Parts: sequence; structure tokens; C-alpha cells
Amino acid sequence: MKTLFVASEAYPLVKTGGLGDVVYSLPHALAARGADIRLLLPGYRSLLRQLDQVRILGWLDVRGAEGIVSARILETRHPDFTFPLWIVDCPPLFDRSGNPYVNASGQDWPDNAERFAVFARVAAQLAQDALDLDWQPHVVHAHDWQTGLVAAFLADVPTRPKTVFTIHNLAYGGYFAHGDFVRLHLPSHWWSPEGLEFHGGFSMLKAGIVYADAVTTVSPTYAQEICTPEFGYGLDGLLLSRQYKLHGILNGIDTSIWNPSTDAYLPAHYSMSRINPGKRRNKQALLGRFLETVDDEVLQAPLIGLVGRLVEQKGIDWVLAALPVLLAKTDARFVLLGSGQAVYEQKLSRLARQNPDRVFVEIGYDEPLAHAIEAGSDLFLMPSRFEPCGLNQMYSLRYGTPPVVFRTGGLADTVVDTNTATLADATANGFVFETPAVEAFLDTVHRALETYRQPAVWRRIQQAGMGRSFDWHDSAGHYLSLYSM
Ligand code: ADP
Repeated sequence: MKTLFVASEAYPLVKTGGLGDVVYSLPHALAARGADIRLLLPGYRSLLRQLDQVRILGWLDVRGAEGIVSARILETRHPDFTFPLWIVDCPPLFDRSGNPYVNASGQDWPDNAERFAVFARVAAQLAQDALDLDWQPHVVHAHDWQTGLVAAFLADVPTRPKTVFTIHNLAYGGYFAHGDFVRLHLPSHWWSPEGLEFHGGFSMLKAGIVYADAVTTVSPTYAQEICTPEFGYGLDGLLLSRQYKLHGILNGIDTSIWNPSTDAYLPAHYSMSRINPGKRRNKQALLGRFLETVDDEVLQAPLIGLVGRLVEQKGIDWVLAALPVLLAKTDARFVLLGSGQAVYEQKLSRLARQNPDRVFVEIGYDEPLAHAIEAGSDLFLMPSRFEPCGLNQMYSLRYGTPPVVFRTGGLADTVVDTNTATLADATANGFVFETPAVEAFLDTVHRALETYRQPAVWRRIQQAGMGRSFDWHDSAGHYLSLYSM
């Protein structure tokens, strides 16, 4: 099965969130099951700098905003990838420093419409083997709004590959103005409510939903939620009408990177059958980063972790509202890592300054610390208002750090609340609240902390999480059946 993956980021070359993880892990899982993969990425400056040897496959000229844009297509073998990477090298659009989507002040690059329209045009050309490489994919699998136009450009091509479009987060719609539509010479018949048009502008995400042969999203619950007004960002009606081709396939996690018995970032290793002393050593080391002395009393008090983007989606405002109460009423300590909206960064930093021996905050992106927090914490907070799939709760389950989550999307599909019934059938692996409000969150953290005081029960909850398979192998099987449908 020849499959062309098209995406705007891929771990470890360029990653801003879960999308990057999936675009690394899923094609590897597919390749392990026999698929013949090429992954197409934009040639950002930081990405090109990481490449050693590249081969020029050819040049493609496609329509840009002000005439023809020439893109050089590069092929490289990167040690972290078992299949070739194809890179769209187009310096005017991608050779710039910083984030793939936003400039240094956090605003969208003003030419994003052109950048990703050109990227999609090139992808559609390669999907038709425009460079005569004798490699024609059976399937083109595109991801998120940045690649939504790929399926649209291919829709009218007579002998074309099947197109699959995956929504990793419906909150990012790739919305642009009518002026961009005109400048980019997008086909005029796309300009309709049945096409790309969306409230006077157009949406690249909508293009993927309308024109792809199959649309997937990253958990079964999220696939249902996005068909409702509450989660649908105005696209719920469209998604409901396309339910016949909409599939929810749960992401896996990379169990070679996220494995507490081998994780190279951890000072001590542990497993489901022998959680301690390994996990406790990780807790000690984590606390030791922030405290001068870590005595038995400190080690025994619960340590609560959080890693993630500091944005409203992730329920950071609930965490901020709950923290003072938890500090007053419990002996818990907190270690929080993230970056995002300035207001949340400032408020968290202030709380850390006010409680220097109980609240530890790192603002920024820190992969090793993320691993250390997953392993060293006792409890993990992930109270997202919505969560297409979520990776951190799966990491925390695997690291024996039960998560506290709101019942939504992928969180609902992976975390089983602790109660008498789920303890009895050994499925309890975390703590789930049902009402999207700070009181419910707080009650659930209190409930989790009470359970933490019962070591035998706690161990069963940890083991249930650690024993659950989140392997990509299973998800890859679902995608392969979809490809061949
Ligand atoms: P999202 O894609 O919405 O950001 P996910 O939970 O699906 O959320 O994936 C987030 C990924 O990014 C995880 O791999 C997580 O460990 C990582 N991550 C997020 N913020 C940070 C951070 N500040 N430092 C290190 N890793 C982070």
C-alpha cells in the first residue's frame, strides 16, 4: 500500500503539539505493517538545518498568490525515519526562523493562505507522480487545516489516489478571506457553502471535510462530539451530513519513547510489576530540582503534575482557580510545565513565587522535564474542556500517574473513573469529572487525593493504567482497513 503522508509538522524535526507526534508515529506503525510511505513536509529553515544529505527529486511550478511559485522537491533519509522524507523547499514561503504557523509575536504569518495552498498544490502534483518518480500513491493521507486543500485539488482528477483527511483539532479551521481565495486562483466552483465558503471567507479545514473520500478524527468520542453545536465550531452540520465517511480512530502513543522501564530521560526505571522503588526515585529527583532537601515527609505528600499548552482548551483557568484551595486544604505539591497564553503563564509564575516550596512552575517547552513530570508525579491533571485525543493522559497512565480528566473526547475513551464497580472489575485507572466547572474538578482532585492515601487501591489503579495497551499497532490496523475500503 503506497501512502503519501502530507503534514505541516513531524516529531522530532518540527513539532508544536500532538499533531507532530502522530505524524511521526502513525506512518512508522503503518510501515511496520508493510505500507510503503513517503512523508511530505514544508522546508522550514529549522527543518532544513537538521538534514544531512538531500537529493533533488525535481522542481514543480504551481500557482501562488502573485504568479507562479517554484518549489524544489527534496528527498532525504533521516536516521529517525524508516521511510524517505520529501521536503517542499520553497524559500520565499518557508525559509524563515521560528514557529511554522506564527511569527515571533504570536500572530499568524500573514501569508499562511499562500504557504499552505502552495504546499497542498505541490502535494496534489506529487500524488499524481508529476515528477515521474515511478511512485504513485494509492492513498494520500493529509492532516489538519494546513493540508485541507490537498483532497480538494485531487477531487476532480480522473485517476487519482484515495484521499483521507484527519482532523486533529477542529478548533483550528484555517480560515482566510475571500481576497486570498481570489489571489490564489482557487477554482471558482469551490466558492459555495457546499464547498470551501465559510461565513464570507473560506476554511481549508472545511475543504478537507468536503472533498476527502474519508475523514477521520483521533478518538471515537470526539468523532461524535464534533457533530454537535457545542464542539462543532460551526462545522457540526456539515460533519453530521458526512457521518457516513467520518471515523474516530484513537491515537496510539510511541511506546518506545514513552516507556518507564527504558526512558532515557529518567533517573530510575520501573514497570507495572515493580513500580517502586523506581517511581519513588523519580519523584525524589523531580522534587530535588526544585527543593534543597527532600525528606520523607516531602516525599510522602502527594505531588501533582501538569504538562501542556497553557490555553483555555486545557482547563488551565480551572487549575488556577483550584490551586489556592488545594494549597490551603491539602498537603499536595504541584509541578507544572507549559507555555501558552501570557496571562496564564504570569498567573502560574506568580503562584509559584508565592508558594516556593509547594508550587513549581516551568514556562517553556522541555521534553526531558515532561518525561520527568510524568514519571515523578503521583497524580496528573488534564482537565481539558475538549480534547480530540490527548497524549499526555495516555503517557501518565503508562507511567503509573493516574490522570484527573473531564469526560470529553479522547479523555473519555482512555480514562476510566475510579468507583466501586470499576475497582471491582479492575478497569479503574484515573479520575473523571462530568460537569465542566471548577467545583467538579476540585471535588475530583479531592477524591483522587483521598484514594492516594490507600496504597493498595492506588496500586491497582496505577497497574490498570500501566497495563492498558495504547500501541500504535492497533490504530494502524484501523487506518489500513480504511485505506483499502
Ligand atoms: P495538544 O496536541 O493539544 O497540545 P496533546 O496532549 O495531544 O495536546 O499533545 C501534547 C504533546 O506535546 C505531548 O507530547 C506533550 O508531552 C507535549 N508538550 C506539550 N507542552 C509541552 C511542554 N511545555 N514541554 C514539553 N512537552 C510538551
